[in-house]
Amino acid sequence: MPPEKLHWSDLYREVVTSGLCTGCSACVVVCPYDVLDYDDEGSAYRPFHVPEMGGTDNCTYGERGCTLCTRACPRFGSWEPEADRFLFGREREESEVYGIAQDVILARAADPELIKAGQDGGLVSVLLIWALEHDFIDAALVSNLEGDGKTWKAVPGVARNTAEVVASAGSRYTYSANPSAYAQAIESGAERIALVGMGCQASVPAIMSARKAGKVARRFVLTIGLLCSKLFDDAIFPELFEARYGLAREDIVKMNIKGIFQVWTRDGVLHEIPLKEAFQWTREGCNHCPDFAAEHADLSTGGIGSFSDWTFTIIRTDKGRELISAMLAAGAIEVRSAFDDDPDAIALLRKLSRVSRRRWPENAEQSPRRIPVVSA
Ligand SMILES: Cc1cc2nc3c(=O)[nH]c(=O)nc-3n(C[C@H](O)[C@H](O)[C@H](O)COP(=O)(O)OP(=O)(O)OC[C@H]3O[C@@H](n4cnc5c(N)ncnc54)[C@H](O)[C@@H]3O)c2cc1C
Ligand code: SF4
Ligand code: SF4
Repeated sequence: MPPEKLHWSDLYREVVTSGLCTGCSACVVVCPYDVLDYDDEGSAYRPFHVPEMGGTDNCTYGERGCTLCTRACPRFGSWEPEADRFLFGREREESEVYGIAQDVILARAADPELIKAGQDGGLVSVLLIWALEHDFIDAALVSNLEGDGKTWKAVPGVARNTAEVVASAGSRYTYSANPSAYAQAIESGAERIALVGMGCQASVPAIMSARKAGKVARRFVLTIGLLCSKLFDDAIFPELFEARYGLAREDIVKMNIKGIFQVWTRDGVLHEIPLKEAFQWTREGCNHCPDFAAEHADLSTGGIGSFSDWTFTIIRTDKGRELISAMLAAGAIEVRSAFDDDPDAIALLRKLSRVSRRRWPENAEQSPRRIPVVSA
């Protein structure tokens, strides 16, 4: 936990202006005085301080003792070992390159409609539906597409029932700060909330809890992580997909990344775009992110491996294991061993986890670089 007095001016200097900020929105969500806001226009995805209350780089309430934004930030101070200790009761060993885990499985929804709606095996969707139906959660913070979906603008949202979960299924490769839907969930009466998000967001509940960031932390009861190497700026639609490949965003119906950018259009055609061509649109907030495998989630899910209609799933906590066991026993999901059935995917997980670790700056707090970053 950071020393008592650290507040927005420290967060601004250490995280926001240093390039470490991922735009997760946790500091904004936790601020009790509403003096932090969030810029999601263009490629910004950054918090900012309302200038009237201490300037952009300082905070009047912080000077009076409020430290909540630094307590919520999963890039401030020694965030990684703090979150490890809170979730797992210990720090990771050097060999635990994709974080602390109990098992790695391939899982998918038993309902073929959910597999169809989902990005991979629909596991995230079936999990949320299960947790809602079995009174484990009241709501989930997810990502939706704005309006009729034709702009492909990803926006944070709340799912409170099966229809809303299904509507939010699938992956968007631009940023959606899902924690920022917290206020919307609370307004609708939710007390027990699941968070779905990439590693930068999946560390939020653990770090908030480790640093005792109040009732926001206590309301997060389930965290589902999404494996993630990087996201892209919205400009990738006009400047790459449309300008170079003639793919208008309103004609795109699904996207995936499987070593190559896969883009499906309304006419049923699959277009493949080399990933390297997309790199120049990498979102700035991803440039220093060390967390490929969403290492502080209860369950981390991804699409790596040989089986496109299964979700590659890392079971991290007892809560995650119990949920998987209960759904399996009830016939809601199918499961197989990733170690037995797709060892190449495990090797890729290890490799991609190490690759992301190289991005953490040498001049920042050094915990994320304890895992050897060079060889796979
Ligand atoms: C931006 C992004 C990058 C990813 N990169 C990788 C990768 O490099 N390697 C890998 O193996 N897997 C990656 N994944 C994970 C993979 O695409 C699937 O999300 C995961 O396998 C779960 O599949 P599913 O069918 O079980 O989920 P589904 O049932 O389809 O549910 C997906 C959930 O993700 C949420 N979601 C969708 N887009 C976003 C977004 N932009 N921000 C936050 N939440 C979102 C949805 O709201 C939904 O709750 C990435 C996912 C995203 C969103
Ligand atoms: S990483 Fe998240 S919590 Fe930290 S400053 Fe950026 S938006 Fe705020
Ligand atoms: S690489 Fe993924 S997990 Fe890391 S900051 Fe970017 S979106 Fe977040």
